[in-house]
Amino acid sequence: MANQTRQIVQDSLKALLEDDVFLPGLQGDAREQAFTSLGAILSTPNHVHKSFLRIALENGNVVRIPAFRVQHNNALGPYKGGIRFHESVNEEEVMNLAALMTLKNALHDVPYGGGKGGIIIDPRSYSVKDLHLICKKYVQYFSDIIGPDKDIPAPDVGSGEREMDWMMAEYKSIRPGQPYKGSFTGKSVVNGGSLGRRDATGKGVYFTFRYMIHDFIKQQKSFLQSTENAFAKTALQFDGRPLTLAIQGFGNVGSVTALEAYQCQHLQKKVVAVSDRNVTLYNSDGLDIPGLVRFTALNNGNLPETEEQLKQASIKAVIQDRNNVLYLDVDVLILAALEDQIHQNNMDKIKAKIIVEGANAPITSEGDRYLSDKGVIIIPDILANAGGVIVSYFEWMQGRETQFYTEDQVYQLLLNKMKSTMDTILPTYFGDPLPLRQNCYIHSVMKLSTVLYRQGKLY
Ligand code: GLU
Repeated sequence: MANQTRQIVQDSLKALLEDDVFLPGLQGDAREQAFTSLGAILSTPNHVHKSFLRIALENGNVVRIPAFRVQHNNALGPYKGGIRFHESVNEEEVMNLAALMTLKNALHDVPYGGGKGGIIIDPRSYSVKDLHLICKKYVQYFSDIIGPDKDIPAPDVGSGEREMDWMMAEYKSIRPGQPYKGSFTGKSVVNGGSLGRRDATGKGVYFTFRYMIHDFIKQQKSFLQSTENAFAKTALQFDGRPLTLAIQGFGNVGSVTALEAYQCQHLQKKVVAVSDRNVTLYNSDGLDIPGLVRFTALNNGNLPETEEQLKQASIKAVIQDRNNVLYLDVDVLILAALEDQIHQNNMDKIKAKIIVEGANAPITSEGDRYLSDKGVIIIPDILANAGGVIVSYFEWMQGRETQFYTEDQVYQLLLNKMKSTMDTILPTYFGDPLPLRQNCYIHSVMKLSTVLYRQGKLY
């Protein structure tokens, strides 16, 4: 588990230990012991599975590809979390991402534990046939530990519907006659996936931001005027004036968030910058996001990176270095790429007043502390990017009931769920000097601790 996650979990436990109202049945030495035990349970995964997938590539080479499945905690339900396909995947990272899934599911009352998978490959450098084989092998190697009531993988960075369809099909052939629809989520709709799953994370990221900065603020204006809370101050400053947004990452999360922002009628705002692994595109008058979405759909997911491509797509923008998106003078920065993007060496260059974590763990602990101390509002990953796993849960339920919802029903259910989490967290947060991340962690840890206590796991 990364230091940041461990530290915040420990801080949350400390706050709860001193809160007499929490678990009043535990007092004295028993209370101390139970909290030490909770610290150990939450900061270590239950299982770390690692294999080297032996793959005979299409070009004749035989390679061994490292692959992981980390099962962090299943107190609230089966382990749940995506499988990341990326060249920088490593065991430590997967362990941290699995812990974040436990906290995320607990925060949003999704009846799952936390898990995460990883395969160390750059999927862009493999043929479709090779990728198919890698997916099948992953399921063969881990088939004993996954399953609809045990551990349910889903897409993550570098994987999507195609991979989940392949994996579910392999699981089905390994276990003939057994339930298989719920073994993977994020499948294509024809294979039992849910309408709306593809866009769920990006929609949820934008909704979280909009709800905090607009809906909640509107309802709570007089209360906010009376509090010293840093977010309240920032939000009131923004009230009624146009906002500028920059979005790092234009993949499944960033592009949907950008489009949601572009189309949203509730706020006066413009998306002035977006970026991908090659470029940042900037236009102080606002970018043509639908035009960029159309371009990426035809160009392997890549944004235009030359003047000629911009002209071809009729996009007006200045081409800048891909990291520039982080340092622009904007009101809001949405991080929707990978982890560790803001760290010790670049944190002092950040100018945004609000940062939304669309990706998991995009800010290191040093960056987080520095920016929070400076008064920057960080809307954390476990709050903002849960749309994916929430709709995965709807997919899993629909598969069980063999009843499917319309896209509108899915989005309505998703937004209701995220709204209900925010309505629980925000009033406490606005009356509290702690950062929002800490408030969210306390809520998750409280839920997990109560369940573990009642299950008799803390003695
Ligand atoms: N990979 C996504 C996440 O980090 C979705 C996980 C899921 O749907 O299980 O939240």
